[in-house]
Amino acid sequence: MDKIILVRYEEIFLKGLNKHVFENRLIKNIKQKLDDLGSVRITKSQSRIYIESDDADFDFDEAIIRLTKIFGIASISPVVRIKSDYDEIRKTSLDIVGDLIERKSYKTFKVESKRGDKSFPMSSPRICADLGGYILSKFPRLKVDVHNPDFILYVEVRENTYLYSEIIPSVKGLPTGTGGLATLLLSGGIDSPVAGWMIAKRGVEIEAVYFHSYPYTSDRAKDKVIKLSEILSEYCMGIKLHIVPFTEIQTSINEKCPHEYITIIMRRFMMRIAERIARKSGSLALVTGEAIGQVASQTMESMLVTNNAVTLPVYRPLIGMDKNEVIEIAKRIGTFDTSILPYEDCCTVFVAKHPVIKPSLQKTLEYEKPLDSEKLINDALSRTEVIKL
Ligand code: ATP
Ligand code: MG
Repeated sequence: MDKIILVRYEEIFLKGLNKHVFENRLIKNIKQKLDDLGSVRITKSQSRIYIESDDADFDFDEAIIRLTKIFGIASISPVVRIKSDYDEIRKTSLDIVGDLIERKSYKTFKVESKRGDKSFPMSSPRICADLGGYILSKFPRLKVDVHNPDFILYVEVRENTYLYSEIIPSVKGLPTGTGGLATLLLSGGIDSPVAGWMIAKRGVEIEAVYFHSYPYTSDRAKDKVIKLSEILSEYCMGIKLHIVPFTEIQTSINEKCPHEYITIIMRRFMMRIAERIARKSGSLALVTGEAIGQVASQTMESMLVTNNAVTLPVYRPLIGMDKNEVIEIAKRIGTFDTSILPYEDCCTVFVAKHPVIKPSLQKTLEYEKPLDSEKLINDALSRTEVIKL
């Protein structure tokens, strides 16, 4: 009897001839994530991945937690693998059911069976009926409930037989590294970490850019963004965070531009700098946490003016979402508690009382003229700090 982990994937099935590229990348990512837990053997068979370890003290629980954060994995089951021999299936089933009843006080169950190996002498319905009856005879207080059981004992007869009762959902998506690199404008807020996560879910590697306005925004605000990058990096197989000093740019804009336009001009500078960083890293897009109408700088008119500052595409995965929907995802992925820590945000430091809601591009370009944009941008880039998480 071997204790192993079964990993299922979904969307990779649709990949036709490229399927192996996605599978191999997923296996590579799994290896990297579990590397420090001890020796692991990862095998692929019939569009599933099996993970096992010879180390007696291999931490299966920790491995499972990590697997729920690997893009490309649809679900995970801790499984017991035995020979495809009916006596052994009966015996092992009793052990599993006995353990579940004791640990979880389950009262109802059903058996579900799949027979991949057609040379096995019993059909799936017969396995279910016979094994169910056998389990009932040994645990008389247990009852069968085919509609809403407390647990399901899954029996899969393949080249070996796999028994399990748990199907743990993972994050789905596509394996990190199969979709190129994108540059996320990461603030300390709720939205941008979720936006980055959503793009990363599609197999895209993420680098992050944070604009820091010291001393208007404190080191605690910076630490918060580092923490958010750390949380994201657990999903993204590592993140490079660029911390760009933004104070000089903000003070210049504040001094030289009409007040109602300072936010939109500031956002254009963020885009330009992020684009320079992106081009250098070979990144194919910028990503922000904007949603239509959330604030003045996120009206369609404002975003038109923001986009005009760059030529790389700007992806805004939250564009049609309500705040509550974003919060729900932030909670699920674990960024919410950090995002709501009450530290300053650079956008709230220099903020117009009446920001323009429908900025004109022509006016924006006019108002930017007194700024020495090239110098401001190059200065900020030359003092940018890079942290690898
Ligand atoms: P968030 O919750 O992500 O902070 P927000 O609703 O506060 O978003 P804004 O402050 O208007 O919205 O920012 C819009 C987007 O611009 C953010 O989602 C983020 O992508 C980017 N952004 C804003 N401030 C910063 C910053 N200091 N550093 C990097 N990116 C930023
Ligand atoms: Mg913000």
